Amino acid sequence: MNSKIWLSSPHMGGKEQTFVKEAFDTNWVAPLGPNVNGMEADLAAYLGNDVSVAALSSGTAALHLGLILLGVQAGDEVICQSMTFSASANPIKYLGAIPVFVDSEPGTWNMSPYWLEEAIKDRLAKGKKPKAIIPVHLYGMPVNMFAVMEIARRYEIPVLEDAAEALGSSIAGRRCGTFGDIAILSFNGNKIITTSGGGALVSGNKEYADKATFLATQARDAAPHYQHSQVGYNYRMSNICAGIGRGQMEVLPQRVSERRKVYAFYQKYFADKKGITLVAEPEGFFSNRWLTTILIDTEQAGGLTREVLWAAFDKENIESRPLWKPMHMQPVFAGAPFYGDGTSEKLFNQGLCLPSGSNLTTEDLGRISVVLDNVLMQEPALI
Ligand SMILES: *Cc1c(COP(=O)(O)O)cnc(C)c1O
Repeated sequence: MNSKIWLSSPHMGGKEQTFVKEAFDTNWVAPLGPNVNGMEADLAAYLGNDVSVAALSSGTAALHLGLILLGVQAGDEVICQSMTFSASANPIKYLGAIPVFVDSEPGTWNMSPYWLEEAIKDRLAKGKKPKAIIPVHLYGMPVNMFAVMEIARRYEIPVLEDAAEALGSSIAGRRCGTFGDIAILSFNGNKIITTSGGGALVSGNKEYADKATFLATQARDAAPHYQHSQVGYNYRMSNICAGIGRGQMEVLPQRVSERRKVYAFYQKYFADKKGITLVAEPEGFFSNRWLTTILIDTEQAGGLTREVLWAAFDKENIESRPLWKPMHMQPVFAGAPFYGDGTSEKLFNQGLCLPSGSNLTTEDLGRISVVLDNVLMQEPALI
């Protein structure tokens, strides 16, 4: 059997073990230390715009703290992009708040500014002002942030920007993770860089980052004994994981260009194939191309379905995966309000994520091409 080709697997740069060894040598084997501070400084320098960073145990933890910092409480409503990974929406539930889902726009596949405003107007008409808005830069493609922020400012609702998949992406030169009142990043094993597991909360407001660090370390008051006036959490990034992260930060620009090369490979391959489309970058948008995704229009593609291609890859030990299933279609969020026109549902029905790792070899891409050739060259009747 051929070795497995993953959708997106960890890709070490080389210096990670040096930072981890340093942590052992100096006995900073704890959820604080020089690597944690270093990781925060590296991220702040990379993102620019004078942001402050709190390194945390996961992107999900960062979303949870982000909502707390924005004052979300039980019974409040939070607007969230429907097409996303469940981790964007679960923390709303942790707080006993109510998710209100908004559809995607066809251009970026991300939060539709039109449906966002429709949702806000309708919730206001029903007597409740949403407490926060969560847009998500899916697969690395930036959300139409200028439009989303304009609406959010006009209605005075804070934005919690989910940039878990978009470290290295930007709009008009401004990096994703610096648009919202608060943003979050993830360094899970499958993301563009990894700390094995980890995340960060980012904000232009240093008080938010400081408060996140305080809450993430059990909310200990400044007292000689253990004194607490608030509920705390154990969400800090470990100094070992941060060591991996510091090594990864050194190769982040390389990882972005490698992922973009994988995208360019697929773009060239599909250029003359009918019925198969990729998501293009709108003017000024720059995607880290975390995952390359395609849409298959079965009618135009001579009867080819997403399922057939998915199964053909699987048979050759190559991982591919449907797009995120929208949250308004998920049993766990049944009954949550939804504003949209079916765009995300259509994307989910037609879409497939292709192997996109920065560590794919020429040989891997060759195996992927063979599967694509075989599937695309068959007569529709034989599929
Ligand atoms: C990965 C991911 C998260 C969660 O990050 P973890 O570090 O795995 O907790 C949140 N949102 C999106 C869009 C993600 O892809």
